[in-house]
Amino acid sequence: MNDNNDIIKQNIEEIKLKVENAAKKSGRSIEDIKIIAVTKTVDIDSMIKAFDEGLTTCGESKVQEFTHKYDTIKRDCEWHFIGHLQTNKVKYIIDKIDFLHSLDSLELAKELQKKAEKINRIINVLVQVNVAGEESKFGIPPEQAVDFIKQVSLNKNLKVKGLMTIAPYTENPEEVRPVFKSMRKIFIDITQENIDNIDMAFLSMGMSNDFEVAIEEGANMVRIGTAIFGERQYT
Ligand SMILES: *Cc1c(COP(=O)(O)O)cnc(C)c1O
Repeated sequence: MNDNNDIIKQNIEEIKLKVENAAKKSGRSIEDIKIIAVTKTVDIDSMIKAFDEGLTTCGESKVQEFTHKYDTIKRDCEWHFIGHLQTNKVKYIIDKIDFLHSLDSLELAKELQKKAEKINRIINVLVQVNVAGEESKFGIPPEQAVDFIKQVSLNKNLKVKGLMTIAPYTENPEEVRPVFKSMRKIFIDITQENIDNIDMAFLSMGMSNDFEVAIEEGANMVRIGTAIFGERQYT
């Protein structure tokens, strides 16, 4: 237990240094970058350890696990849902999420709007863009992103706060630098459209193996699991 806690503490210290360096390279500081601890499959004790080390934003990707942890952990932390969300499960998390990173269809936007309106809540959403065009991934094709966001912005209880992407997995993160560059370009293009009722504040990209490159290319939210908690255990 204590050993594990020490490893988490050490991992977080290393990550913070790397984030700081990458931020500097793109003319920013560590305060400009939000580190999300991806806690899917991670036990509650380890989550608490990460919170104690200052990572108070967690990212979950399964509805059942999310609600269980939300109900169990009584801590002042931010809850981000980062996985694909099925429309019929919106009702379980609508009153709990601080951020949804994975808005990927108008059908989902419609359901979120309906349920958010009922409880009089504004939901922060990021639009997931499938910038590399991978068939296995969810997300809006880049060329449809502007139209999609215009449609979503008509929903009064949804606030588009930026974009999210998952880059293809590679051993060498330099290979996905162009993916991050094109995301940044799409982000700027959308910002310049001056669409009402949106606030292009966040570009969520970069995971354990590529977060430094993502930050260098403009990410200001990174989602890090393995590099903090170690390899995930699937049962
Ligand atoms: C699991 C997951 C991550 C974190 O991946 P690591 O490689 O463990 O850092 C980030 N984003 C999403 C959407 C994920 O599902």
